[in-house]
Amino acid sequence: MASTVTATATPSDTFKCDQCLSGLHTCFICKLDDSNLVKCSYRDCGKYYHQACANTHPLTIYEDKKLHCPLHLCASCAKGDSKNEKAGVGKLFKCIRCPSAYHTGDFCIAAGSRIVSGCNIICGDHYHRDKKTASQHSHINVNWCFNCSLGGTLVCCETCPAAFHMECLKPEEKPSPDNVWFCNDCKYGVRPRYGDIVWVKLGSYRWWPSEICHPEHVPLNIQQKSHEIGEFAVHFLGSNDYNWVHRGRVFAFQDGDKGSKESQKHKNINKMYKLAIEQASEGYTQLTLIRENTDQQIAKICDSRPKRYKYIKSNLPIPPAKLGKVDVEEIQICDCKPEDHVLTTPAV
Ligand SMILES: [Zn+2]
Ligand SMILES: [Zn+2]
Ligand SMILES: [Zn+2]
Ligand SMILES: [Zn+2]
Ligand SMILES: [Zn+2]
Ligand SMILES: [Zn+2]
Ligand SMILES: [Zn+2]
Repeated sequence: MASTVTATATPSDTFKCDQCLSGLHTCFICKLDDSNLVKCSYRDCGKYYHQACANTHPLTIYEDKKLHCPLHLCASCAKGDSKNEKAGVGKLFKCIRCPSAYHTGDFCIAAGSRIVSGCNIICGDHYHRDKKTASQHSHINVNWCFNCSLGGTLVCCETCPAAFHMECLKPEEKPSPDNVWFCNDCKYGVRPRYGDIVWVKLGSYRWWPSEICHPEHVPLNIQQKSHEIGEFAVHFLGSNDYNWVHRGRVFAFQDGDKGSKESQKHKNINKMYKLAIEQASEGYTQLTLIRENTDQQIAKICDSRPKRYKYIKSNLPIPPAKLGKVDVEEIQICDCKPEDHVLTTPAV
């Protein structure tokens, strides 16, 4: 890790930190020191990476052999596509511990992230399980396939409840034998967000339709309950109950979700569950509309901006400009001399 710099004199223009003096920097992904790292080419970014580490991240961009690290794209908007224009527009929250960034505001940021100062955050991925509440929070996978809804032998995501049949995964998504497996959302940095309608499993209760709440919008007694980075408050729909949960027990509610079959024993709970499903469907429809609206507004901003410039190797006309034909003999030569101060126009 970086050592502390003690200022013994006012830094002059040529001030360099220990890392720059020794040429030994820390890779922002694997946290190992190395002298053979690539620096992000964004001004003021200052992050270094092993080429191999940077290559593992879907939002790393190489343009003209220059590295653009993932800290310059909103992971929620990009959804794993580094060419998504919207993802690079506007101000971003940047995690100080890993290369994750989200648009500022409450819209894109991963639920459970902590704002440290200004645009610096510790994102929700840096979750350390508290021993007291461990059993309620341990990561759990569903026992059906997210693609076909049937049971059987499933490939389980390491960080969220997602599970799939091997044969329901696309060839490029299949796990390699010796590796732990992550679903696309987990791989791409797409995390639960505030306002999301989700399924939540608390302890041994059944999966329950819920809404992820911004911490400022939950009752005071819930706000005051102890919680860790990476935990966020959910409102169990159809009830007045709230609790802090972690993304290991949360997955997105989809249009048309009906939930599990009702058991005959608990009439009251069945009633609440039915209400919860209704509220979740309504909430989902509303949320989809709001998000589509915002997406359109951002798309408008993207369209009105000039396209990013590209380096060209030699001077070439870029359409609609054309290369004109010039007959050298027809060009009239002026009478100016290099030492003249007043330029004359050529005689017609
Ligand atoms: Zn330095
Ligand atoms: Zn590395
Ligand atoms: Zn960078
Ligand atoms: Zn975003
Ligand atoms: Zn992070
Ligand atoms: Zn399946
Ligand atoms: Zn996952």
